[in-house]
Formats: sequence, C-alpha cells, structure tokens
Amino acid sequence: MYMLIRLDDASEHMDVDKWYRVELLLDKYNIRPIIGVIPNNLDQSIVEKYEHNPGFWDLVKKWESKGWTIALHGYTHVYETDNGGINPIYNRSEFAGLPLSKQREKIRRGVNKLEMHGIFPKLFFAPSHTYDNNTLEALRLESQIRVISDTVANDIYFKDGFHFIPQQSGKVRNLPFRVITFCYHPNTMNDSDFEYLKVFLQKNLNKFRSFEELSFTNRKFGVVDWLLKFIYFGLKKIRFF
Ligand SMILES: [Zn+2]
Repeated sequence: MYMLIRLDDASEHMDVDKWYRVELLLDKYNIRPIIGVIPNNLDQSIVEKYEHNPGFWDLVKKWESKGWTIALHGYTHVYETDNGGINPIYNRSEFAGLPLSKQREKIRRGVNKLEMHGIFPKLFFAPSHTYDNNTLEALRLESQIRVISDTVANDIYFKDGFHFIPQQSGKVRNLPFRVITFCYHPNTMNDSDFEYLKVFLQKNLNKFRSFEELSFTNRKFGVVDWLLKFIYFGLKKIRFF
C-alpha cells in the first residue's frame, strides 16, 4: 500500500502561516507532497480571505527544489457549471460540461502563467475533483501533462493516454486501496487536523511515497477498481467519504 499527500489551493492568496505549519510537519517526516497551484485565483471565497502574497512564486520554486511535485489545479478556481463530469465527487465544476474551446483556453492560460514563473506542472487536478473528457483533450492539446490526480480506483491506471492516480480521502486513514492520495486544504486546517495528521504520519511513515517514487505502468482499470469505485460512491451517499 502506498500513500500520498496532496495539498490543494496554493495560490497568491493563501494562509501563509498554515502552509508553513504543514511544510514543517511534512519536512519533519521527509514527506514530499503534490501541490495544487491555482494559476489565476479568482475564487472570491479564497481571494477575499487572504492577503496577496508577493513571494508566492518563489515559495513554489522552493517547494520544487525540495522534491515537492507541482500540479496545475484549474485556472481560476471559479465554478462555472453544475456538472460532475467523469469523477462526480461534487456536482460543480470549473471544467466539466464546458465546450472544448473554453477548456483549452483555461489550460493554455494556466500552463503559460506557471511557465512564466519557471514552473512546469507534472500533473493536473480540477477544483472539486470534477473534469470531463474535454478536459483531458484540452490537456492533450495545450500541455505536456499526462497524469491526473483524481479518480476512485485501487491503483494507478492508464487510459486514453493518461495515467490516473487515485484520490479517495480528505483525511489520513487506512483504506482498502493499493494507492491512496489524501487531499488536504492547508488554508482551512485546524489544530485537531494537524494533530491527527502528525499522529498518523508517525505510525504509518513507511507507507508514504512521493510522486517521483511512483511507477507508471500501462495497467488498465480492472474489476477490483470497478468494485471499489462502486462501493466508494455507495458509501459516499451515506457520507462515509
Ligand atoms: Zn481547490
């Protein structure tokens, strides 16, 4: 079993103190997470809450130099549809349901903004985990990104030219999957989240891997994946996840 940590919603507007607190904790255990960077954050629920951080892009470079992996996390982080797409964790999306031309523009602008700061994202995940086949096509046409973090499955699988890394939980815990990504939002973490994470890391440290340590084969989505996905979305209806 392999576990990964993903930190969502890094942008020019974020809770710098909480992000630093997560950084110290992960550094202590030598865990290298995946970071979701919002290129052009226009999400008012974040932008209005946190001051603009002029040092943000240097911070991203610093994370990268420590072996942290940078992901493209949408473009504006503003929901434009109530579509759940192909990973319907929520019925809202910045991408799913939009025409290809619009999605291409978002991906192109997002990648350009990151590249302008010398950052070349290795994977993609969308706000609220929601995307569709046009999002994949947009990534194909406008970027070098061929890895998605966000699917429910037992293990990493290869489909339509992309590797999909499962992401199943917003909190560390033992779950019956071979690869598990825990997605945290440092901006909104409280003291008990930090404490719970610390205790879990101490006990399960040997299970954690970085993105660079994963192996990407051409394994297909199989029966076990299908079964776990079916159970997952069933349990989600009763709010287990
Ligand atoms: Zn987000």
